[in-house]
Amino acid sequence: MQHCIVIGGSHAAVQLAFSLRQEGWNGNITIISSDENFPYHRPPLSKIVLSSESSVPNIPIRATEFYEKNNINLLLGKQVLRIDREKSNVTLNSGEEINYTKLALTTGAYARKISIPGHNLKGVCYLRDLRDALEIRESMAPNKSAVIIGGGYIGLEAAASMRKRGMNVTILEAMPRVLARITSPEVSAFYTRIHEEEGVTIITNASATAIEGADCVTGVRLDDGRIFKADIILIGIGVLPATELACAAGLDINDGIMVDEFCRTNDHNIVAAGDCANQFHPIYGHRVRLESIQNANDQAKIAAKTLCGKLETYSALPWFWSDQYDLKLQIAGLAQGFDNVILRGDPNTGRCFIAFYFKGSTLLSADCINSPKEFMAIKRLLVDKKTANPTMLSDQSINLVDSFID
Ligand SMILES: Cc1cc2nc3c(=O)[nH]c(=O)nc-3n(C[C@H](O)[C@H](O)[C@H](O)COP(=O)(O)OP(=O)(O)OC[C@H]3O[C@@H](n4cnc5c(N)ncnc54)[C@H](O)[C@@H]3O)c2cc1C
Repeated sequence: MQHCIVIGGSHAAVQLAFSLRQEGWNGNITIISSDENFPYHRPPLSKIVLSSESSVPNIPIRATEFYEKNNINLLLGKQVLRIDREKSNVTLNSGEEINYTKLALTTGAYARKISIPGHNLKGVCYLRDLRDALEIRESMAPNKSAVIIGGGYIGLEAAASMRKRGMNVTILEAMPRVLARITSPEVSAFYTRIHEEEGVTIITNASATAIEGADCVTGVRLDDGRIFKADIILIGIGVLPATELACAAGLDINDGIMVDEFCRTNDHNIVAAGDCANQFHPIYGHRVRLESIQNANDQAKIAAKTLCGKLETYSALPWFWSDQYDLKLQIAGLAQGFDNVILRGDPNTGRCFIAFYFKGSTLLSADCINSPKEFMAIKRLLVDKKTANPTMLSDQSINLVDSFID
């Protein structure tokens, strides 16, 4: 009997296993996950789990019956320590060896660790999995102080959730603005304004040099000597792809597991998908490693087809979202390489606008804040590889779709 082993137990893993059945895989399927929890949605961890007081979050990716119905075997709380490509087997931390005919790597990413003095003190937290979220929530309480190192999406979402629970929140960002790696100065300024309106202190150009405290954290020290007092310190400085297993098995690695357009690694019996995979993107003309639910799901579908012998090129439009306070940000496309930003609406007032990113006359992407209908229309436009008239886009008296160019 053929056997597909899926290493990982999150968005890419569950989608891949399900898609294998949809594509006609008749053999066994085993998902092996080092997370002891039943596969759950990660985005709510920073948005809902941190801000709610209910004890057990109910956020399964699929219901229990789904695995039974599709005859998918789940091994939870088990880590794969080694892949032996010659013997076509994997070794678990329990010592058990399991043979595969095909292997899928959906090992995802883990939080990048900070290495300044005091980094091991109690009260230094990361937010990647359910256990992290529950631990952070446990230590949260009104009027306690949190310092968040890193003003990316995780840091900003956690800040919003912590404010909701009545905490004092300071964000320390090493760059001159929050979200600097990902978005335009206009959108960064908007998020800074909103967080400040909501009571968060944001310090930019802030280089943390030490975490203060004897047993537990008491604060963060910056290179200019300033100290920010804290009961909790959340580190949100990005993630690193989990590639160690693939690397030790001799697979090609370069900021992720290198895969071709069909999600195959350099061993064609092994595919990779999700946060761990680095792939050429035909829309952008270069390799990218994306960290999003959209990408995890879409690559998993392509990888499953590949394992079933149906080769289809990955070409999905990237999209992403972030929820903070009453703001829903929806991003269509990738802004990388933009040379012009067109605004529709005023980010300096109110809480609803769109930032369009152009390279020459080509529309690359759009950040839509509280504009879900517009997001859907722009996504369609980008999927159809069309562009829009920048002058018309910026004029809110003109219907958005009238500025689209066929
Ligand atoms: C707090 C938070 C909020 C987010 N919000 C959003 C959002 O709003 N929108 C969005 O698009 N994306 C969001 N993301 C990103 C999104 O969750 C990831 O892109 C997505 O989870 C990637 O899925 P994945 O399956 O590739 O990897 P992961 O979710 O990282 O899962 C990988 C799994 O593999 C397991 N694993 C790794 N190595 C082994 C091994 N050797 N043996 C066994 N198991 C192993 C890990 O334990 C893990 O469970 C958020 C992420 C976080 C942490």
